Amino acid sequence: MATFGNLSDRLSATFKNLRGKGKLSPADVDGTVREIRRALLDADVNLEVVKAFTGRVRDRALGDEVSKALNPAQQVVQIVNDELITILGGQQRRLQFAKNPPTVIMLVGLQGAGKTTLAGKLAKWLASENHTPMLVAADLQRPNAVTQLQVVGAHAGVTVFAPEPGNGVGNPVRVAKDAIKYAKDKQHDIVIVDTAGRLGVDAELMRQAADIRKAVDPDEVLFVLDAMIGQDAVTTAKAFQDGVDFTGVVLSKLDGDARGGAALSVASVTGRPIIFASTGEGLDDFEPFHPDRMASRILD
Ligand code: GDP
Repeated sequence: MATFGNLSDRLSATFKNLRGKGKLSPADVDGTVREIRRALLDADVNLEVVKAFTGRVRDRALGDEVSKALNPAQQVVQIVNDELITILGGQQRRLQFAKNPPTVIMLVGLQGAGKTTLAGKLAKWLASENHTPMLVAADLQRPNAVTQLQVVGAHAGVTVFAPEPGNGVGNPVRVAKDAIKYAKDKQHDIVIVDTAGRLGVDAELMRQAADIRKAVDPDEVLFVLDAMIGQDAVTTAKAFQDGVDFTGVVLSKLDGDARGGAALSVASVTGRPIIFASTGEGLDDFEPFHPDRMASRILD
C-alpha cells in the first residue's frame, strides 16, 4: 500500500540488521526498538501510540519468547506483527446490520474526506451482496453535494433519496427521517445517509450531525478519515468522537503517497474499530479492513 511504503522499507531495513544474529543482546533489542520508534514517528504515527507500542515490543523482545526462540530475529518480527495488529484494532470488525431493517448507516467526516465516494462504494458492494441499499443526500451545505450523490448513485446503480425542491431543503434532519420512511415503504433494507462536512471541524457541523444521529438512531456511524491529512487525523477523529461519536472508522485515500501513519493511530486513540479501507477514486477501490492483513502488508 503506497501510503505505508516508506514505513515498510524502514522496518524491513531494521529487521535486516538483526538477521543472522543468534542470541540478541539487550543492546540489540534497544537499538531495534529505537529504530522502530523513529520509523513510526517519521510516518506520523501518534506519539502516545508509538510509546505504548514500542514499550510492549521492548518488554516482549527482552523476555523468554525471544531468548528461547530458535530464530530470535524472526521472533522479534512476529512480536512487531502482533503488536501492529493490536494497534489496528485486533480482530476484524464487520459491519453491523439491524435486526429489523432498514439498517441505517450514517457517514460523517470533514469535507473532502471521501464520504460521498464511500457512499457509492458501500452501496455498490452491499448491492452485490444481495442487499437493496438506498443513498440519502443529507449534505445540504454544499450546493453540489446532492447532484454529486445522484451521480455516484447512478454509477452504483442504486436509488438516491434527495429533498424535493421546497420540501425539506435546508433541513437535513427532516430529509433523513423522510428517507427512512421511504426506505421502509419501498423495501430498501439499508439506508446510507451522507452528511455535510466542513473544511475544518466546527461546532455547527457537529451539532447538525448529532441532531441527525439522534433523529435516525443509526446502526452504524462511520467516520471517514482521509489518511493523507497527517497528524491532524488524530485531532479530527477526537473532535468527531466528542461531537457526534461514531461506531467505526473508514480510512480513505490509502492509495496516496503521503505519510499515512496518523491513520494507523486512530483505532488506538478512539477505541473504535476500522471497518473499511478506501484505496482509490473508483467505486470498486474499497475493501473490508482486516487488521492482520494490514499488518502483514506493512511488514511485507
Ligand atoms: P466528501 O466531501 O467527504 O463527500 O468527499 P468526496 O467523496 O467528494 O471525495 C473528495 C475527493 O477525494 C474526490 O475527488 C474523490 O474522488 C477523492 N477520493 C475519495 N476517496 C478516495 C480514495 O480512496 N483515494 C483517492 N485517491 N481519492 C479519493
